Amino acid sequence: PVDRSPEIQEARLKLPILAEEQVIMEAINENPIVIICGETGSGKTTQVPQFLYEAGYASSSGTIGITEPRRVAAVSMSQRVAKEMNLSHRVVSYQIRYEGNVTDETQIKFMTDGVLLKEIQKDFLLSKYKVIIIDEAHERSMYTDILIGLLSRIVPLRQKKGLPLKLIIMSATLRVEDFTDNNRLFSVKPPVIQVDARQFPVTVHFNKKTPLDDYSGECFRKVCKIHRMLPSGGILVFLTGQAEVHSLCRRLRKAFPYQKNNTAGGEDDKEDSVEEMRKFKKSRKRRKVMTLPKIDLNNYSVVPVDEGDEDRDADTDDDAAGSDIDLDLGDGDSEEDEKSDSSLPLYVLPLYSLLAPEKQAKVFRAPPPGTRLCVVATNVAETSLTIPGIKYVVDCGKVKKRFYDKITGVSSFRVTWISQASANQRAGRAGRTEPGHCYRLYSSAVFMDFEKFSAPEITKRPVEDLILQMKALNIEKVVNFPFPTPPPTETLAAAEELLIALGALKEPPVTGRLKQQLAAKLSCPISPLGRIMATFPVAPRYAKMLALSRQHDCLPYTITIVSAMTVRELFEEFDRPAVSEEETAQLKGKRARFLQMQKIWAGQGPMQKLGDLMVMLGAVGACEFAGCTRKFCEENGLRYKAMLEIRRLRGQLTTAVNSVCTDAGLYVDPKMKPPTEAQATYLRQIVLAGLGDHVARRIQAEELLDEKWKNAYKTALLEDPVFIHPSSVLFKELPEFVVYQEIVETTKLYMKGVSAVEPE
Ligand code: ADP
Ligand code: MG
Repeated sequence: PVDRSPEIQEARLKLPILAEEQVIMEAINENPIVIICGETGSGKTTQVPQFLYEAGYASSSGTIGITEPRRVAAVSMSQRVAKEMNLSHRVVSYQIRYEGNVTDETQIKFMTDGVLLKEIQKDFLLSKYKVIIIDEAHERSMYTDILIGLLSRIVPLRQKKGLPLKLIIMSATLRVEDFTDNNRLFSVKPPVIQVDARQFPVTVHFNKKTPLDDYSGECFRKVCKIHRMLPSGGILVFLTGQAEVHSLCRRLRKAFPYQKNNTAGGEDDKEDSVEEMRKFKKSRKRRKVMTLPKIDLNNYSVVPVDEGDEDRDADTDDDAAGSDIDLDLGDGDSEEDEKSDSSLPLYVLPLYSLLAPEKQAKVFRAPPPGTRLCVVATNVAETSLTIPGIKYVVDCGKVKKRFYDKITGVSSFRVTWISQASANQRAGRAGRTEPGHCYRLYSSAVFMDFEKFSAPEITKRPVEDLILQMKALNIEKVVNFPFPTPPPTETLAAAEELLIALGALKEPPVTGRLKQQLAAKLSCPISPLGRIMATFPVAPRYAKMLALSRQHDCLPYTITIVSAMTVRELFEEFDRPAVSEEETAQLKGKRARFLQMQKIWAGQGPMQKLGDLMVMLGAVGACEFAGCTRKFCEENGLRYKAMLEIRRLRGQLTTAVNSVCTDAGLYVDPKMKPPTEAQATYLRQIVLAGLGDHVARRIQAEELLDEKWKNAYKTALLEDPVFIHPSSVLFKELPEFVVYQEIVETTKLYMKGVSAVEPE
């Protein structure tokens, strides 16, 4: 029996999924695999684990496991469920790559999909679980797709053993044909339960014109209008990246300052606006309401152009109806909005995945009395988190995504249009608690040109890490794997080739025709080295470095370098746009200090040749020496959250290495000394072994045929010149040969994470 507080009980009863508890549990009892579809906010993630728990699916011998594609969701959902059930986090726990609070008592375990994949490697049958829930399956993250493929085989195996495992796939959209109508995946079609969304209608307003580039400015103007003119209710803005989010937050805070002690109006305000809205609704003609473009969130039917189109915008009719609230607002172009207005406090909060968890948690709490909540978010708010009280959504229609070249693996971040499905998800965030409005900052014609759905991640990125994991599971013929959507053959081939080059797979016998060779390559078995590499929770290139580091006591250094290379954004961004002169000066000072420190961290002699990797090693070493405090990080241009992640990953990798070489006796030393000259030289060889195909040679003066090759490097794979990134310590050095961690395309092709190598 679960002992829930009265407030939680009340909130739960409002969730549509509660009415379906019996239907869901019957389906689960009678079928090994069940798919549950329901709009974001309907209660899938928080309630289904509780249904299972109350039905006795969790016990001391069996856990309920839930996977999430995003770390944010794994952590915050475990906390929410623990709270709802009034249980400690010793029982309702989470595990993400860097950390967790799982105990012997854990009965409900939230984890990222990558964590479960690792567990399958240790125990293919997942014997400690009674149920696996794959959440957010619509996101089609690479690991989620693979897990579904693997579980489609594990479930029947467990059945045969007489220890049945239940698989539940949960999705925010109804588009689950890739799972249901794929008989290689599931020979018996699993039942699909649709949870009534009880979604309030969301009125969609398209812009007449689509802004060419300044969608941030357009967002600003739209939020100002909503805040000035429309009744109370939270605003959720979708932008593409952290920098944009911050700059919009600053602009909005300046325009509508909120002081902590400002309680003007208080609760009365709310009453007024409810009254206002009621009057407004009454005044509105029914006929007009019916013709407003609506999206049906249950089947994603596309709004016909003429319905959502500018010609039939509500504004003219609204005026005729005598209403003083123009819900359509029109395209933003007014200038007066920049004026600061403290009589209308707006409580502005940012939300993105790199934000510190305690700051992320703020969006779930009620805004201070007398203020309106405005959350400025990246894509994380699209489906994984439900923010309470949102009535207005402002959607810029864009998303920032990493794109990879299929052959070279060169990646670039690009801002592109979202899919229609994403746009509808975003709009749906507005209708959770009452009818809402979604302002799309693009025209309906542009919307019609969006792709219907975004492509599954597995078809879009290199898959060497995935293939190594699969080979470690003895899946040799990867092409025969029941992928929900298979990756392109050339991506598979590139991955196998790299793994062979790293020595992780056994070389195929060289035989006749190219086609046969390719087929042979796609079914190479794993090598003993590959098995060791697969136990490390990092990409194959980095795993190879670890596997080579036994000699000369290099392991602690390699572990640190690899941890630093796999954690995103170690250093603070100094190039970000500043809002005030004060901030500009502050950033300038910070940058100067950072550049000084960078030189110190880069060391001397052979260490210096390790370039950016030495800077990472030096920075982590210095930070740990200082106790890894927030203060030290802020003073020296390091990102505190990244440093904490590195610390945890170092711990984890140290444990992983110790379990492979039982005599290594490694521990994480907070007072790690810099490497000796011999070690630094050896580290460069280790790095070269892992990044062997990432070598670049500087173009010599006599080879300079074209100005565009000035200071450029030539790589084996690319025709075009590549350059050392300006943030690199080797930017001015220009060594003859370098290895790089990755090439990123912005205005040019830039190498990041650069070390110098010497020709043999
Ligand atoms: P789904 O998985 O179907 O998207 P959830 O189970 O995540 O739905 O959310 C159900 C409801 O629980 C949401 O409407 C939200 O208001 C509430 N909720 C979820 N997390 C929190 C939280 N951390 N604090 C307060 N309410 C929350
Ligand atoms: Mg959910």
